[in-house]
Amino acid sequence: MKGKVYLVGAGPGDYKLLTLKGLECIKKADVIVYDRLANINYLKEAKPNCEFIYVGKASSDHALPQDDINRVIADKAKEGKIVTRLKGGDPYVFGRGGEEGEVLFSEGIEFEVVPGITSAIGGLCYAGIPITHRDCASSFHVITGHLRDDDKENPEINWNALANSKGTLVFLMGVANLKKISSNLIQEGKSKDTPVALVSWATRYNQRVITSTLEEVYETAIRENVKPPTLIAVGDVVGLRDKLNFFESKPLFGKSIMVTRSRTQSSSLVEKIMDLGGNPIELPTIKIEKIEKNLELEQEIKNIKDYTYLVLTSKNGVEIFFDKLEEMELDSRALANLKVCAIGSATAKAIKEKGIKADIVPEKFVAEYLFEELKPILKSDDRVLIPRAKNARDLLIEKISEVCEIKEVHTYETVVDCTRKEEVLDILNQGAVDYITFASSSTAKNFVEIIGNENLDKIKDLKVISIGPITTETAKELNIDVYKEAEVATIEGMIDTIINDKLV
Ligand code: SAH
Repeated sequence: MKGKVYLVGAGPGDYKLLTLKGLECIKKADVIVYDRLANINYLKEAKPNCEFIYVGKASSDHALPQDDINRVIADKAKEGKIVTRLKGGDPYVFGRGGEEGEVLFSEGIEFEVVPGITSAIGGLCYAGIPITHRDCASSFHVITGHLRDDDKENPEINWNALANSKGTLVFLMGVANLKKISSNLIQEGKSKDTPVALVSWATRYNQRVITSTLEEVYETAIRENVKPPTLIAVGDVVGLRDKLNFFESKPLFGKSIMVTRSRTQSSSLVEKIMDLGGNPIELPTIKIEKIEKNLELEQEIKNIKDYTYLVLTSKNGVEIFFDKLEEMELDSRALANLKVCAIGSATAKAIKEKGIKADIVPEKFVAEYLFEELKPILKSDDRVLIPRAKNARDLLIEKISEVCEIKEVHTYETVVDCTRKEEVLDILNQGAVDYITFASSSTAKNFVEIIGNENLDKIKDLKVISIGPITTETAKELNIDVYKEAEVATIEGMIDTIINDKLV
């Protein structure tokens, strides 16, 4: 197999500012090589056994020198792997993408480059600053502020040309050299009153923008403790921020909201918080645990010829069932005499991946709907096998057993996921969370089980939002003070509660 490298621009930080092609490269990668400016949440989109290699910290302090990064990428590709190199912004805008491409070229390794939204343009945009404007900027210049030692005879940057161009100037990696940048521009004739914006962590929930003038910007930056990554924008377009600042006016901008979840599926709450400009911190509270050495399941698979129907109720259930078949040196042909039912389209899809088209897929993701579809066709001599979760509801079993024989085999159970305890405590200790949401009694209970009763004081300064009266009651029993309860007991209701709270 031939390896291949994708040099992918991961955009400036906002999760959704990634191209479709970039996402595709993340999904198909065997290895992802990334640094600190690429949003790490993209790694969740990777294949389950994808290898992650982190290669960079701050701009001045590379975790791996560029030569080593080039080496890692080339070597992994030579092993026949698909390597996706994720870079903040665009790979060719001060991203050293050109150098990485040259190495691949010289070693005969196939590669593609996927452009990204550069922070120089997209970052300013989220700060309410258009990089050009008919009235005040007819060109723009993107300049590195990471200046090598000044050679007076042959300077790296033509300050005179920059100072006298009327376009917008954007400096990247310029915080450490801010004084030099501003004084060179003034010295070469740029007005000291020219507006300047310092945009830190652009497009992220923690974006911070400070405005000043060319003359005062250095002092301002010291006073406000401005740190990289920061864009320095110089020009009259900075003034348009007052009108065009759509991002920071989003209702949840700047708010970090911990979302406790009871399912393994991704939650609509997380998505909504992101769209409203907030920072969702996801905390799944349960996980799936397979029942090991499942002799009962083995027995029923041996007897599979006695059954006429097989009902699978979740993607996890499908995986575990087929793993068992494989373990017993069987494959999907063992199910040839059965009608296969899938509850939910995700389950049907998982079955399809095993080479079987489900015969019955009820429209809705609930057991009752399956029974409605089975009722007219089930006969009294049918036999149904249903391998599923231990703590599942009994209704489907009851209904089917009124018609024919049904055998339930437990294959997994959902248990409280305590593996992230330390991580959660770390986040709480940093004091970086504003709200915590509980969308059910069970998430509240699980949350306390995860962090431990002794750590409950760590959330006493957070605003706890409960979805409704039952959850609030449970929270009280657990000694959690609910700050507000949603007026309408839905995800939207919880969001509205947070938005209204931010307004007062
Ligand atoms: N290839 C990247 C730039 C890499 S150089 C791009 O196209 O955006 C790294 C510099 O980019 C940082 O020092 C900072 O000046 C700037 N930068 C990148 N992302 C940023 C962000 N989200 N907020 C502010 N500055 C950012």
